Amino acid sequence: MNILSQDIKYLQGVGPNRALLFANELGIKTVGDLLGYYPYKYVDRSRIYQIREIDGSMPYVQLCGQIFSFDTVGEGRAKRLIAHFSDGTGSIDLVWFQGIKYAAKNYDCRKPYLVFGKPTVFNGHIQIAHPEVENAPEELREQARTTGNLFEDDAQLSTLNSNLSSLNFKPSYNTSEKMKRSGLNSAAIAKLTANMFKLLKEPLAETLPPYIVQQHHLMSYDEAVRNIHYPSSPEVLRHAQLRLKFEELFYVQLNILRYVKDRQLRYKGLIFNTIGDHFNGFFYNHLPFQLTEAQKRVIREIRADMKSGRQMNRLLQGDVGSGKTLVALMVALIAIDNGCQACIMAPTEILAEQHLATLRDFLGDLPVRVELLTGTVKGKKRTAVLEGLVRGDIHILVGTHAVIEDNVMFNKLGLVVIDEQHRFGVAQRAKLWMKNAVPPHVLVMTATPIPRTLAMTLYGDLDVSVIDELPPGRKPIRTVHMFDAHRQRIYELMNRELDLGRQIYIVYPLIQETESTEQREPSNRFEWPSRDGGRRSQKMDLKDLEAGFEEIQRAFPNHKVGKVHGKMKSADKDAEMQRFANHETHILVSTTVIEVGVNVPNASVMIIENAERFGLSQLHQLRGRVGRGADQSYCVLVTKFEIGETTRKRIQVMVDTTDGFEIAEEDLKLRGPGDLEGTQQSGMAFDLKIANLARDGQILNLARDTAQSVITSDPEEHNPQNDILWRHLRELRKSNINWGAIS
Ligand code: ADP
Ligand code: MG
Repeated sequence: MNILSQDIKYLQGVGPNRALLFANELGIKTVGDLLGYYPYKYVDRSRIYQIREIDGSMPYVQLCGQIFSFDTVGEGRAKRLIAHFSDGTGSIDLVWFQGIKYAAKNYDCRKPYLVFGKPTVFNGHIQIAHPEVENAPEELREQARTTGNLFEDDAQLSTLNSNLSSLNFKPSYNTSEKMKRSGLNSAAIAKLTANMFKLLKEPLAETLPPYIVQQHHLMSYDEAVRNIHYPSSPEVLRHAQLRLKFEELFYVQLNILRYVKDRQLRYKGLIFNTIGDHFNGFFYNHLPFQLTEAQKRVIREIRADMKSGRQMNRLLQGDVGSGKTLVALMVALIAIDNGCQACIMAPTEILAEQHLATLRDFLGDLPVRVELLTGTVKGKKRTAVLEGLVRGDIHILVGTHAVIEDNVMFNKLGLVVIDEQHRFGVAQRAKLWMKNAVPPHVLVMTATPIPRTLAMTLYGDLDVSVIDELPPGRKPIRTVHMFDAHRQRIYELMNRELDLGRQIYIVYPLIQETESTEQREPSNRFEWPSRDGGRRSQKMDLKDLEAGFEEIQRAFPNHKVGKVHGKMKSADKDAEMQRFANHETHILVSTTVIEVGVNVPNASVMIIENAERFGLSQLHQLRGRVGRGADQSYCVLVTKFEIGETTRKRIQVMVDTTDGFEIAEEDLKLRGPGDLEGTQQSGMAFDLKIANLARDGQILNLARDTAQSVITSDPEEHNPQNDILWRHLRELRKSNINWGAIS
């Protein structure tokens, strides 16, 4: 039997209890799973530093020296143990806040230790908090005995360093609190991976065809996977990472592109050749303004798809306010001109109703019938809509996900537009196709700009169009960062705008209690950003919102203040939103439920409390709620005075730019893809083990091109050289639920 498929419990050092933990906490069940559990960083043990070289900006370092004395300082929770540590070139403090007793008991004065940790500066003195401490290797101990001083000259140290090959790079593995409590910390996992490699004496089978490995000068799979756990040098590690990142991205792309090819083979597209009375009537007589160049281009791109004989699957990206609704309408009119119906799906009832009103408004007296179908359309009304659809005298159906229910049938559905796509998974999209013998064209619209690398992975099966231009005459929103303590100035701004008859949003974050797994350590040289390992619990707190609501009512006694949040009944929520839209309330205090698509052009101020708690894309979405009229609008990002460096940078990005794509790129860089909006719900392959979409754009391009050339050159999958690819792809699809979902 293949060792890789062996149950992990039989691996030396595991046993049934730990095997259970591995399975429950990390989904690791076999030796092969453990092999694929890569370290998240490496600790450079290949070199010993001298204390005089150290400063507070260095990553993890290894020192060798002796403790000269211990001090206990502080009381109660501030109590800490300090060990004064020197190597003859200088001295630093080792500090323990926890495990004081253990450290004091186990470490001796004047005994040589290898100490490992991240130096920081505290009160002008360098210290390492909670260092790893080990007995120094024999040769170092010998040295300490004979000279009493570890490093008298640099030559001594460099000989030593060259003898340290055995220490090398140590892998660090993520574990959970639960695992750590049972002794399965990173070091324990490292012991197990070491045991595993003792078993894996034979070279591991290659997972890419030799011609691809050669073409891109990749390391063999065997060498890569051994070195990803136990790298022999930084260069080798980089090479191993490249190989595994390429492979990972390659298979994701191969999966997507193969699916695209199959879809094209399997489904013909409706051919829309005609531009007729509906489109022209609207374009020449009802269009209230000039289309922007970007809108025109996008409509042309969509038109080309709809004539091509292939089913359109297109993603339309356009910033908030860029005029996507109008594009959707004009495309729907083309479908109608070609004897088909169109369906526009929105993520919420409010939005669906808003779309309905907007479309009817645009269409005026044109003979196009638009109807609404949501969960609240019931009884006779519902029956009428359903019948109208089947008969074909409803031309455009606007609705929520209620439209994908099986009993909703069309006469001839030719186009589906999905607005704000991230609430609809691939599976739901596919359900819509089934509503017509020939699957309808699909246009997915999003106002959440997605960086290219992410789009290629999340929506790699879709062609992409971009509206990169706002309609003319909009004043850019002015964004400012203010501290909590500036409350008075914020109120002044609010009063000024209220006096001008404008309205104001105030948004509070829901405080989500996060159940974190391992606290990730600060980066060292070879770390890549962690993916989101924290599992979010559903518990949410509205405390801030309630307190804020009361405070605002007190501070603005002459104005009406509304309140909405996700825990309200949907009818109450809608009613409250409607009151704000009708200008019956002046200030709306809310959570992010107002995030998507809501349109109240008279609102000119968006105040976001605890702005540090929001993702950049989310801040951008929220900001997009204002600036919809011709007047100057404002966005105020409120934070507490003390914020970290990353937060400061993130807020600054928002202040500096209103370009959604720039913001999305920055967000990806600052946070890593796991945290980005929409990635969890997308239902597309995403759980990357080693590649990082924020950093590995070039590798991704290479992987996509390579995958595309495999598909193009071997569409029938007859080339024996590629057998290994299809076999491996099948394996991956079995073990990755998301991968299976796209076909
Ligand atoms: P989004 O892309 O966020 O869905 P909307 O479709 O809601 O944007 O459009 C925002 C506003 O801009 C709407 O009031 C719409 O009527 C208006 N609009 C759309 N296209 C144009 C245009 N070419 N010129 C002027 N205003 C436009
Ligand atoms: Mg919209």
